[in-house]
Amino acid sequence: MSDIRYDRLHDTHVIIAPERLHRPDSMVEKKDETIDKNCPFCEGNESMTPPEIFALRDENSFANEEGWQTRVVANLYKAVQIEAPHTHSSGVFEHWDGFGAHEVIIDTPEHFTSMTQWSEINAINWLKTLRQRVADLRNDHRIAHITLFKNEGLQAGATQKHSHTQLIGLPLVPKKDREYFYRSYEYHQETGNSIMESILLSEIEDGSRIVANSGDFTAYCPYASAYPFEVIISSVKALGQVDTLSDKSIADLAPLLLLVLQKLKHQLDYFDFNLSISSSPLHEGNIDYSYRFSIRIMPRIYRYGGFEVSTGVIINPVTPELAAKLLRESSDV
Ligand SMILES: [Zn+2]
Repeated sequence: MSDIRYDRLHDTHVIIAPERLHRPDSMVEKKDETIDKNCPFCEGNESMTPPEIFALRDENSFANEEGWQTRVVANLYKAVQIEAPHTHSSGVFEHWDGFGAHEVIIDTPEHFTSMTQWSEINAINWLKTLRQRVADLRNDHRIAHITLFKNEGLQAGATQKHSHTQLIGLPLVPKKDREYFYRSYEYHQETGNSIMESILLSEIEDGSRIVANSGDFTAYCPYASAYPFEVIISSVKALGQVDTLSDKSIADLAPLLLLVLQKLKHQLDYFDFNLSISSSPLHEGNIDYSYRFSIRIMPRIYRYGGFEVSTGVIINPVTPELAAKLLRESSDV
């Protein structure tokens, strides 16, 4: 029998329906790649991208040349641009000029086509780079909100194979994020806890959906998982934002993230996924007490149809309890 579950974190419903379990619609043969001479994101091809905004570089190396671990450039096909005037007009046809930041974080100098190929140092450098970019853009008071996300594979919307992350900073707070932020705030006002803290404490007590943990971080398959094998990594402790993560937190988080990805690969083989990093509105002061930093991994195994598009209610054929059990048992990775 299926189960209609309420997702308290995102204020939505999910139908867990194992009866609908079937093979993915298309099996495209996939493999890990490590070489592509014409890839603009590979080390040595720096001249093929816009000039770098930031890079974690070796000493004695120069901007826009070899010798980097991560590199951040403006998106060539940007949705919004930082050079646009920051003007807003209200009225029925309210609009902002296309102002904002759209950056690409090139995650590794090697031509890795999957995050599952990363080493721990890759993951540490990636987190440090995200921390630096958000801290830097926070100083630009025109930007109200930053979204950080990864698309890996065609089903997830990727158009460039080399492992990369995108950052979009907007002069407004998107509706879903605004609602999530206010829900977290109100929940904290009522209970004295953050929503994520309450959920994680209940998950840890229950245990059936826990995948693994490291330091202050726990990885679990959420009770109302919208995606088969969805995993969220977060912390009971007050860690509000990516740009307030300490080096110690990054050292705990990086191996856990890689472990989860390895376990997913062990269960799903080559899988496409979206990854997003929580982000609250930028100019709300200290929100660490009500908000939690989190990473959400959403494997894209099934396509959505009209029901999902018209209702926002997603049908997931894999129970999160089964997904978590299989991931916990994938210990030989
Ligand atoms: Zn490449």
